[in-house]
Amino acid sequence: MIQLDKVTKQFNTANGTLTAVDNVSLSINDGEIYGIIGYSGAGKSTMIRLFNGLEKPTSGSIIVNGANITEIKGAKLRAARHKVSMVFQHFNLLWSRTVEENIAFTLEVAGVKKEQRQVKVAELIELVGLQGREKSYPSQLSGGQKQRVGIARALANEPEVLLCDEATSALDPETTDAILDLLVSINERLNITIILITHEMHVIRKICNRVAVMEEGKIVEEGDVLQVFESPKAAVTQKFVQQVI
Ligand code: ATP
Ligand code: MG
Repeated sequence: MIQLDKVTKQFNTANGTLTAVDNVSLSINDGEIYGIIGYSGAGKSTMIRLFNGLEKPTSGSIIVNGANITEIKGAKLRAARHKVSMVFQHFNLLWSRTVEENIAFTLEVAGVKKEQRQVKVAELIELVGLQGREKSYPSQLSGGQKQRVGIARALANEPEVLLCDEATSALDPETTDAILDLLVSINERLNITIILITHEMHVIRKICNRVAVMEEGKIVEEGDVLQVFESPKAAVTQKFVQQVI
């Protein structure tokens, strides 16, 4: 479970203080697929970067699977962060490494033995449906295949939470659907909590259980996806719902 209590994140900029996340409280249950939607600049990426300790909040507390990551340090913090993996819009693959070498990378860094790595990589290749492409380089893959590598790599260290920051935004609609189906199967088969950022309401409707709508750093609406679709309250939510009618 991820719990945010009155979390604020501010940045100092040339024009003064910018509040990217503004007094957000929220709780995400284990095994959920939780969506965060909002327009550009709403604070979505900053918020999920707080979940894995890539950013530190200015104030408030963040508890990830029982560990208060705003208080712990050193090995304990590393262990807590290890349980939260991330998938990116532009894949962030290592271009000079093959598919299997990309997936093995975090295992290498963690000092996992070669034989064990090979078993794990083969398992992940099958899970994401990339059999036969083990020796390909990222430049030889389609966008959807690259994202499959990104997802497999994120799963290599057996996380409990998968953060997806616009993971389908660079993909065409059909490929988006295939990747969303893959995320659902990962959620079901591996019982991993998935937190997904998007600016597309159909992505939310297709796979999320609950959704938070962000505007100017605040959560302006939150609830079950069906409920939010049926009776959107905030003006910004109504605009998003209009997208898919
Ligand atoms: P997008 O949909 O474009 O990815 P977003 O909802 O993910 O947008 P964020 O990237 O979280 O938005 O940015 C929220 C606000 O915080 C923006 O005004 C942005 O310029 C600002 N911001 C984010 N990171 C930093 C930083 N490191 N330093 C200063 N300002 C930042
Ligand atoms: Mg973003």
